[in-house]
Amino acid sequence: MGRYTEAVCRLCRRHGGKLFLKGTRCQTDKCAVSRRPFSPGQHGKVRKKESDYGIQVAEKQKLKRMYGLLERQFRNYFRKASKAKGVTGSLLLQYLERRLDNVVFRLSFAASRSSARQLVRHSLFKVNGKNVNIPSYLVRGGDTIELKPKEKNQKIVKETLELLKDRPVPKWIKRDGEHFKGMILSLPERDDIEYTVDENMIVELYSK
Ligand code: SF4
Repeated sequence: MGRYTEAVCRLCRRHGGKLFLKGTRCQTDKCAVSRRPFSPGQHGKVRKKESDYGIQVAEKQKLKRMYGLLERQFRNYFRKASKAKGVTGSLLLQYLERRLDNVVFRLSFAASRSSARQLVRHSLFKVNGKNVNIPSYLVRGGDTIELKPKEKNQKIVKETLELLKDRPVPKWIKRDGEHFKGMILSLPERDDIEYTVDENMIVELYSK
């Protein structure tokens, strides 16, 4: 099973919203969702009535693609969330947000989650002073994430941070751009998730 390779902007248009898969382009008016806000294809402008099941699948696919996960990985997060104490849907979102690649993206050290994943895999970051090159590493409250000192001149990180320095950082993370550092202040709450998703639909889908 390989990764999804269809032109990523088509995915955003199909889901009817930005999934932020293309880095800095997503913040500009070149974004395909802003330019063509309807589904791709010949019948893209025709509104189809979706079944409940269709809506549930679409919500799951949207989230899965946004974080660049395969079905098996996504389902594992759901399993973890359903076994943990609390609201399953909110915990699912919390697990996804806690991934190290997502945190690097949220800190604006990378323009997209997929480039954040590459940077983490190339072992550019330390968590609490230790090398971590696992994109799925789950951060905890109090963790510090830092670009390794010898990587601080990495052109790609510097340029991205400069470009995205005004992009808001969620309130559960603190960014120290000067030192290419971030700190997890608390675990993300449901209200901290700014994109539109109905996680209850995903819970219903997997609970069948
Ligand atoms: Fe999606 Fe980004 Fe392409 Fe816009 S530019 S359609 S947000 S991937």
